[in-house]
Amino acid sequence: MNGAKVRVRFAPSPTGFLHVGNARTALFNWLFARQKGGSYILRVEDTDVERSALEYERKLMEDLRWLGLDWDEGPDKEGQFGPYRQSQRLPEYAAHSQILLDQGQAYHCFCTPEELEKDREKARAAGQVPVYSGKCRSLSPETSRQRMAAGEKAVVRLKTPREGRFDFVDLVRGELSFELSLVGDPVLLRPTGLPAYNYAVVIDDHLMQITHVIRGEDHIANTVRQILVFTALGWDTPQYAHLSMVMGEDNTRLSKRHGATAVDQFGRDGILPEALFNYLALLGWAPPEGQEVLSQDELIRLFNLRKVSRSAAIFDYQKLHWLNRQHMKNLSPREQAVLAAGHLQQAGLLPQDMQEDHWDWLEQAVISLLERVDRFADLRESIALLFDFSLEDLGPEQREALGSECAGKVIRAFAAKLSQVGKFDYAAFAEMVGDIKSETGCKGKELFHPLRVALTARVSGLDLDKFIPLVETGAQVKFPRSMKNCQERVRETLKFLENVQG
Ligand code: GLU
Repeated sequence: MNGAKVRVRFAPSPTGFLHVGNARTALFNWLFARQKGGSYILRVEDTDVERSALEYERKLMEDLRWLGLDWDEGPDKEGQFGPYRQSQRLPEYAAHSQILLDQGQAYHCFCTPEELEKDREKARAAGQVPVYSGKCRSLSPETSRQRMAAGEKAVVRLKTPREGRFDFVDLVRGELSFELSLVGDPVLLRPTGLPAYNYAVVIDDHLMQITHVIRGEDHIANTVRQILVFTALGWDTPQYAHLSMVMGEDNTRLSKRHGATAVDQFGRDGILPEALFNYLALLGWAPPEGQEVLSQDELIRLFNLRKVSRSAAIFDYQKLHWLNRQHMKNLSPREQAVLAAGHLQQAGLLPQDMQEDHWDWLEQAVISLLERVDRFADLRESIALLFDFSLEDLGPEQREALGSECAGKVIRAFAAKLSQVGKFDYAAFAEMVGDIKSETGCKGKELFHPLRVALTARVSGLDLDKFIPLVETGAQVKFPRSMKNCQERVRETLKFLENVQG
C-alpha cells in the first residue's frame, strides 16, 4: 500500500443522528484525506434494515455538510467504486463468501440462535469468554447442502485459527496483540443474504481501495475479525488508527446527560460550524505550538494522525463556547446579525420579514451584546431584556433602590430633564447625571441605582452607554413587541413611585 494515494472513508450507519463522537471520526478522516491530497469517501452502512432509515442518511449528510466535511465519493456522488450504500452491494458479499466457501475457509453453520444463547450462558456461568464452539466447522459441504435443501437455515462463518496470537500495529495505539482462542468464527453472511458488519466492511474497504481506516477504539475487537477476513481472502489490510472515546467531564461516555451531543443540536444552539469543527479537531489532538483558535485551512496543514492521543478525550463545553466566541468575533456585523436573526425570530422578538431598519438595529444590538454571550442563541435572553420593562413584581434590590430617600428626588429630576431634551443619548445622560448629582446632593449607589432601575427595571446589566442608544433607536422600529424609549420608562417609574408613596 506504500505510495498509494490516500483513500479514507467515513462509514456511518444511518440509524440515528450524527453525534460528536462520530463527527470527530468523520473529521479526523477528512483532515487526513485533505492534508494528503487523498480521497474522502462516504459509505452508508445500512445493512441493519430494521434500524436504518433514509431519513437518517439524509440528515447525516446535511450535518456533515454543515460542518464543512464534503466527500469525494458517496451515495449521492457516484465514483468508480460505487455503489456506496451497503444495501446495494449484496452481490459482492455473496460472491466473496462463495469464494471462501469454495476454498474451505468458510462453512455453513446451522446452530440456532437459542442454541448459541445457551452456549453463551454456559460459558458466562463458567466465567469464560463466550466464543462460538465450532460445532459446525467439520460438517462436510455435502451434508450442508442436504440440510439446506431440506429447508434448514444457515449462516456462513469464517474458519479462523483456534489458537495462537494475533498482532497488528495501530497508528495511534502502537502494537496490539490478541488471543485467537477468544475470537471465535465470525459470521459473514446471514440466511437472509445480508452481510454481518465485520464482513461487509472488509469487502468494501478492499474493493474501495481504502488505505487507512480511522475510527473509534470501540472497533478494536472488530478490527481483529476484519483482518482475519482480509487474510483469508489473500488481501492486504489497510492501516488502522483507532481513536479514543469521547467522554463527559465525569469520565463516563458522553451522553445527553452532559449536554448537547448531536451535531444538529449544537447548530440549533447557535454554535458556529467553524467553531465546532475547530473544537472537534482538538478532541484528542493538539497542534505542536498549542494554538487553539484555528481555521479549517490551518487545521489541514497542522493535523498529524500520529500525534493523536491514546487517552480518552474529555468534551469540555466551556472550551467549545469559548472557541465559539472567538469564531463569532471573526465575522462581520452583518454576518453576525444574520446568524442571530433566526434565534430572535423564533423567540418572536423580530418579525419574519425583516426590513432594513430591523437589520440596522440588530447589527447595532449584536455589536453591543456579543461580548456578553457564548452563542448567538444566548442573544435571545439579552435582547428580550431590552423589550421587558416592568415594575411589577420587583425584587428586593430594586425595591430598595426605589425606596431610598434619594430615589424620589433623583427620578423626578431625571424625568424633568428628559421631558426637555431633544435627542436623548448617552452624552446627554452623562450631563444630566452630573446636574442631578449637584441638584439633589445624592451620589454613588443612591444616585445610580434609582436611575438604572428607572431605565431597565434592574440594578445591574448592560452598561448604560450601550443600553441607552439601543432602546432609543429600538423604540422607533416596528417590532412584534414594541420597545419603550427611555422617556416612557422614566415616566412609568415616576408613576410607580407616586402610587407607592400614595
Ligand atoms: N458503521 C460502523 C459504525 O457506524 C462503521 C465502523 C467503521 O468505521 O468501520 O460504527
